[in-house]
Amino acid sequence: MIIQRVVLNSRPGKNGVPVAENFRLEESTIPDTVREGQVRVRTLYLSVDPYMRCRMNEDTGSDYLLPWQLSEVADGGGVGVVEESKHNNLAKGDFVTSFNWPWQTVAILDGSLLQKLVPQLVNGHLSYFLGAAGITGLTALLGIREKGHVTVGAKQTMVVSGAAGACGSLAGQIGRLEGCSRVVGIAGTDEKCSVLVSEMGFDAAINYKKGNVAEQLRELCPHGVDVYFDNVGGDISDAVISQMNQNSHIILCGQISQYNKDVPYPPPLPPDTEKIQKERNITRERFLVLNYMDKQEASVLQLCQWIQEGKLKVRETVVEGLANIGAAFQSMMNGGNIGKQIVSISK
Ligand code: NAP
Repeated sequence: MIIQRVVLNSRPGKNGVPVAENFRLEESTIPDTVREGQVRVRTLYLSVDPYMRCRMNEDTGSDYLLPWQLSEVADGGGVGVVEESKHNNLAKGDFVTSFNWPWQTVAILDGSLLQKLVPQLVNGHLSYFLGAAGITGLTALLGIREKGHVTVGAKQTMVVSGAAGACGSLAGQIGRLEGCSRVVGIAGTDEKCSVLVSEMGFDAAINYKKGNVAEQLRELCPHGVDVYFDNVGGDISDAVISQMNQNSHIILCGQISQYNKDVPYPPPLPPDTEKIQKERNITRERFLVLNYMDKQEASVLQLCQWIQEGKLKVRETVVEGLANIGAAFQSMMNGGNIGKQIVSISK
């Protein structure tokens, strides 16, 4: 059977900026027959995520991420529908997901590596299983619960960087649902800031490309910052940390501003910021959602409940077609998305 797939065409280099041309669309074939234990699936949605930047390097710099190989099919979070099954627990028409879905239109996969999905949980929005009801939502929820020390009634102020992105837009809302009394976002355009306040319930948002972030934070967080959900690192995080209170907490979710640089993860703080962190006893522990997968099932149910109740607002930026997945990745890394960046595969 002839299919289309996307392979890694070239590496951007450890310090390079990834571009769409780092990926290549090509035709390929898959066997016509499905073997015992396997299923043939048609891809519906694929996810592009910042961590994939590390997979573009020959050495990903982490023990839990494998590098993509040149001229081999790329993979990541995906959702699809079973077209033929020789696996006991899966039937034709079932919707399924995997963290390692190949970037191809149709694939034959080992059924035991797929998770069956219940579309009703997300009001039929299957792509949410890659975002708000998937690893992104889990990252926001578990990051806050495991590292945020949010306490109902404690009148805490939370700041979120990368706030209009997939994790950030959920993290601010979840921070509020878990008990923070004030939530301030930092994002890269006025449109994003406006969406955060008008749709996502943030109290205020700062466009970090305009004006002085530390000054604006001082004004918008008059009682200092108690919880910082950090998606970006770099100068933005230095500005936030300078406004943090004694015994406050950083949720070290990601450091996207550093991903095109050959630096260790997590990147060390500059000396002045590190001094503040130590003097004020601010926690900054590494957080990796994959370490909390024992909490996945209950947490996904919580996220789905909030989505159904309208308490968690979900935004997606959807790009059509496998041919455009490289461009979607490039755009997301450059801030082109509001909410989760999804690639929809119609054929
Ligand atoms: P995302 O936020 O949807 O996309 C990245 C966003 O980051 C862009 O929209 C862009 O928006 C912002 N950005 C890009 N370059 C920037 C820069 N130099 N400075 C400031 N902002 C920049 O991605 P996501 O999926 O939600 O991921 C957010 C972070 O969480 C990433 O760092 C990712 O690695 C991390 N993550 C961690 C875990 C974990 O287990 N710890 C799991 C999943 C994701 P602007 O317009 O605002 O610049």
